[in-house]
Amino acid sequence: MQTKVVKFGGSSLADAHQFVKVANIIKSDPSRRYVVPSAPGKRFPKDTKVTDMLYACYDVAARGGEFSDMFEAIVERYVQIVKELGLKIEDRILREFSTIRMSFLARAGRDYAASRGEYLNGIILAEYLGFSFVDAAEVIFFGEDGKLKLTETCKAVKERLEQVGNAVIPGFYGSMPNDTVKTFSRGGSDITGSIVAAAVNADLYENWTDVSGFFVTDPRIVPDPEPIKTITYRELRELAYMGAGVFHEDAIFPARQAGIPINIKNTNRPEDDGTMITETASDDSSPYVITGIAGKKGFVTVTIEKDMMNAELGFGRRVLEAFENNGVSFEHMPSGIDTMSIIVHKDEFEAKEDKIIKAIQTTTNPDKIDIDRDVALMAVVGRGMRAQRGTAARIFAALAHAKVNVKMIDQGSSELNVIVGVREEDFETSVKAVYDIFVVQKL
Ligand code: ASP
Repeated sequence: MQTKVVKFGGSSLADAHQFVKVANIIKSDPSRRYVVPSAPGKRFPKDTKVTDMLYACYDVAARGGEFSDMFEAIVERYVQIVKELGLKIEDRILREFSTIRMSFLARAGRDYAASRGEYLNGIILAEYLGFSFVDAAEVIFFGEDGKLKLTETCKAVKERLEQVGNAVIPGFYGSMPNDTVKTFSRGGSDITGSIVAAAVNADLYENWTDVSGFFVTDPRIVPDPEPIKTITYRELRELAYMGAGVFHEDAIFPARQAGIPINIKNTNRPEDDGTMITETASDDSSPYVITGIAGKKGFVTVTIEKDMMNAELGFGRRVLEAFENNGVSFEHMPSGIDTMSIIVHKDEFEAKEDKIIKAIQTTTNPDKIDIDRDVALMAVVGRGMRAQRGTAARIFAALAHAKVNVKMIDQGSSELNVIVGVREEDFETSVKAVYDIFVVQKL
């Protein structure tokens, strides 16, 4: 029999009604054996996620403030779920809450506080499904440096899960060498799911959320964009700007290393295929030449000019060191014979601007430094571009028609992506123009 690891996000488990949908999905396929839940998310747009309630409540408790009302509001979320599901574990949940309250008073830490959202949801879901509950703190390990110990973790998860047929393992946290709880960064239940999938060598890692996978572009720019059926890990990395919110970037690595495909699915529309993320995909597995268009505003281009720059040994290194020594990482670096441009995030750069410019001036003695603060980047990504002549020509023809002036072009030698820099006010127009030519007109 196949083994699938299934992770459900916060909106998929926001209330009892959502729990029922989740249980139906799990029960409809016996290979869905290992389940990783998030904490209850928002039930309606203005609602607060339990994780945020826990952080806020703990902060008050840690300052010695009165936190009873805030705490009760969290208890209420879980009690309501338990009651509406008709489970007989209200006493157990209340006992857990009195331990949590005591730990808050004993300053057990923000990570511990936040992790209780997943922990309690895991207990409830395990009970509802009739699956074993495996506390993530017992099988997911971080080192002294706060980094995940992947090999040891996979071994522990595997050994533990082999003893049980089905299990619920809460997402988002693990333990430090001194047994305190540590969480991943926000949205980190995706990472737990990926680790569990790698550990049990699953056939598939299903990541259930509230959208039917990735779309070719941002629905806020192009209404109702086409879904992406298949995307490769590398394409997804190139489109990292787009993944935000749907899937945690760090969650790709464990599953990818173990060669396990990831399927992003929608709990509210389980019949939709969603998006499959795989190592390789044939060029004809997508109906379009491109796979996705993503991008962001808020970049700065720093252009350094110096005659004979190309003949000066170590010039590029010294420029990059000016950024590195100030803790600013660069996004792209297009260059000419006597010019070099560094594209960085505006907010990061402006916080260190004076120091960086001074360092470039003293270490490279340039003829001129230009700063352009009006840059948006658009990434057009697609495995199909390699096999198709004229893709770049079509992108730039579409932009010219839309009267967009292109400031910068950067094509990776993998021929998987073309990055275009435009003025911020032209960003949405650019995305729409490229979407129109490749997806609407299917050119
Ligand atoms: N509950 C955590 C958060 O809100 C982790 C997760 O949902 O993946 O960030």
